[in-house]
Amino acid sequence: MFAYALEPSLMFAGRSFALDARCAQQRLLYAEIRRSRWVWNRAVALARRLRRIAVAAKAAGRPVPAVCRTSYPALCRRLTVWRRRRPWLAAGSVVPQQQTLKTYVQAEANALAGRARWPVFKKRRDPLGLRYPLPHATLSDTTLTLAKVPGGIRLRRSSPDLGALRHVTVAHDGVRWTVSVCYAAAPVPVPEHPRMAALASGDDSAAVGLDFGVVSTWTRTVGAEGQAAVQIARRSPAQRRRTARLGRQRSRRRKGSRGWWRSVRAEQRLQRRVATQRREQVRQLAQDLVRDHAVVGFEELHLRSMTARPRDRSGVRNGRAAKAALNRRMLEGAFRATVQATRWAARKTGAVVATTPAPYTSQTCAACGHTASENRESQAGFRCQRCGHAAHADGNAAHVVRQRVLVALGLRPAVGCETAGPSPPDGRRRKPLGEPGAARALAGNLEPAERPVAFARAG
Ligand SMILES: [Zn+2]
Repeated sequence: MFAYALEPSLMFAGRSFALDARCAQQRLLYAEIRRSRWVWNRAVALARRLRRIAVAAKAAGRPVPAVCRTSYPALCRRLTVWRRRRPWLAAGSVVPQQQTLKTYVQAEANALAGRARWPVFKKRRDPLGLRYPLPHATLSDTTLTLAKVPGGIRLRRSSPDLGALRHVTVAHDGVRWTVSVCYAAAPVPVPEHPRMAALASGDDSAAVGLDFGVVSTWTRTVGAEGQAAVQIARRSPAQRRRTARLGRQRSRRRKGSRGWWRSVRAEQRLQRRVATQRREQVRQLAQDLVRDHAVVGFEELHLRSMTARPRDRSGVRNGRAAKAALNRRMLEGAFRATVQATRWAARKTGAVVATTPAPYTSQTCAACGHTASENRESQAGFRCQRCGHAAHADGNAAHVVRQRVLVALGLRPAVGCETAGPSPPDGRRRKPLGEPGAARALAGNLEPAERPVAFARAG
């Protein structure tokens, strides 16, 4: 029996507002972003150098020099030196620069714990927000005041305070300036989901399973037996043509010229529109899922390896272009963003979000558990070779995902579809889903600190 825990209660709440910065203020903010990016990149370079020294010391059997630690106070002392030597850096506020270092230290800790990749250099196009904790920022109903930015920045505010202000983050997405406001809210206990009792007493419709695909972004179970396709907006053909046209237009123009900037901004506006649509659809899907279901099950997919680019062998047709199109469709489906949005939304309703290993979900019969590649008649058709159960292939997979998750959570007895399956052809033993590898996927629902030690990934 695998024990699971709900997400910790909400401690912070946030809101974003559009900023109406004057031209002079925008210039100042751009300059602050440039300085903070420099500080970030400097920290990345420094940490890489120090890691090399530490590795060399360890290899030689010497103790690692104390200077190799990149703690926040140590980096701040370096920042003081950097600023003393560079008047242009010291001309900006020290606050966002220190906060950038704080973010960097957190990013490094995440990488060490295996939660994220190592921090890398930021380019100009990479997003970077300027964070100002209290008392370096003040927020009224109409203005935002920041350290070293003269005059208040006008603000279009659409919601009241949610608690005590902690910090604000000013960012630019290429089109608009926004401020995200973080409040310390009173901890809210995660409630028990209203349908958990029904699920425990045998009502399968109180749980939902989702299958991620290329034809339909998601196929989800509906009720006890049914299924439905959920489409997350991909760029329309017209939007894709427009993207391509803008890119060609930009490439013909002299880099840095007025016209070049015009095309860049048009591209940014288009990108932002697509991103906004997708974010909104993902959010709505997540809220629908956790409102109506006590358990939400996803497959555990590794899109980074699934969407790897085939090697470029010029002159040889190896399906590289077709793979690129497939990759684009997979990545536009916003798989990770949907799982994350669902986890976040689940904190408010008490739903349990769990993931299960993906292998054989598409070849397993949801009715009897028989697993065989012959079960899959075509891209869309599924017919079990043992019991004759026929269904839409993606719908069948969604039901298998739900069943696997319910069994792993101990809410249903195993019927076979979660452990049965063909042995891998090369004679390796397939891992049954009751083993730690399977449970680790479920532990993905827990906060990193709560993960059982046995499930933690190696740093
Ligand atoms: Zn069957």
